[in-house]
Amino acid sequence: MKRDYYEILGIAKGASQDEIKKAYRKVAMQYHPDRNPGDKAAEEKFKEAAEAYEVLSDADKRAQYDRFGHAGVGGNGRNYGGSPNMDDIFSQFGDIFGDDLFGNIFGGGRGRGGQRARGVRGSNLRIKLKLNYEEIAKGVTKQIKVKKYVPCATCGGSGAKDKHSVQTCGTCGGSGQVRKVTNTFLGQMQTVTTCPTCNGEGTTITAKCGACKGEGRTYGEETVTIDIPAGVQEGMQLSVSGRGNAGERGGTPGDLIILIEEEPHKELHRDGLNVAYELHLSFPDAAFGINVEVPTIDGRAKIKIPAGTQSGKIFRLKGKGFPAVNSYEKGDQLIYVNVWTPQHLTAEEKAMLEKLGQSPNFKPQPDKSDKNFFDKVREMFS
Ligand SMILES: [Zn+2]
Ligand SMILES: [Zn+2]
Repeated sequence: MKRDYYEILGIAKGASQDEIKKAYRKVAMQYHPDRNPGDKAAEEKFKEAAEAYEVLSDADKRAQYDRFGHAGVGGNGRNYGGSPNMDDIFSQFGDIFGDDLFGNIFGGGRGRGGQRARGVRGSNLRIKLKLNYEEIAKGVTKQIKVKKYVPCATCGGSGAKDKHSVQTCGTCGGSGQVRKVTNTFLGQMQTVTTCPTCNGEGTTITAKCGACKGEGRTYGEETVTIDIPAGVQEGMQLSVSGRGNAGERGGTPGDLIILIEEEPHKELHRDGLNVAYELHLSFPDAAFGINVEVPTIDGRAKIKIPAGTQSGKIFRLKGKGFPAVNSYEKGDQLIYVNVWTPQHLTAEEKAMLEKLGQSPNFKPQPDKSDKNFFDKVREMFS
């Protein structure tokens, strides 16, 4: 079971972006691998904090997480999202803390020192995915063809014509960084910044790949397999990490963001976790009682309508609603009875009904012990 992101960073739900950044910095420094060499537990905590920060620092992902928990941001132990790898975490430090911080604290830092930036990160890609009630109820694995940028097959994503056209950057000597020594009132300070010539890539390209014009990616198509957890809702977004547009020249790919749409059902209506169904009964069926079959999101179910059932009665099929995406909770199916009053009558039928209407049994006799009307209305809208 995944820990709550706010709990991991030790902050309140309403924390500002500044508080989130500060909290992440504190936790990341505490569990940084350079300070805890060989400590697996610390490494896990370090990764956990990076994942929490990645979600909470992004307004979109944070809103999804607040509404739907881990499932909303691709958690839940499924194969999207998940822990970012260490290289990604280190490469983000520069953006989060400024280039200097970790370099200075950790003596060049493995994050900035050993790691050269590669290319330009690909953009996120959004697609809509329509699901029917059955698929939502059970969860489903979908294979979707996505049109997007894919790594160039000719150059393998490097953007170079061949290996001889990739040269070590002359400005930084291949490290991707330039060091500057400045004099301050505290004494000499060394700062490290991204090399402006190669943008931190450490190499420059002298001849571009013809197929992708040096971009390292081409527009194409990829079939992506997506595990949709049971219980998703219209408007919910799932993000599949790294399956968006390919980056330029080997840069990290963007994420694939899937917007869930619900296909309306012919007979059933979703109301949160519950499912509503309107059952029309003829007057004789309601008076005599009858066994009927009703549709549910999981096949058909038989229910027994007792003799003397009133219009407006609600039957509840426990646990026949939708599962919650973020807990073990399950909704119910509510069956609303509507007794059909005839709208056209023959002369003969009229005569029979008039006769029946004189019987005391046809006078309304509300059951005083029954729930009062307002309780029923409340139940209906709960
Ligand atoms: Zn190419
Ligand atoms: Zn350079």
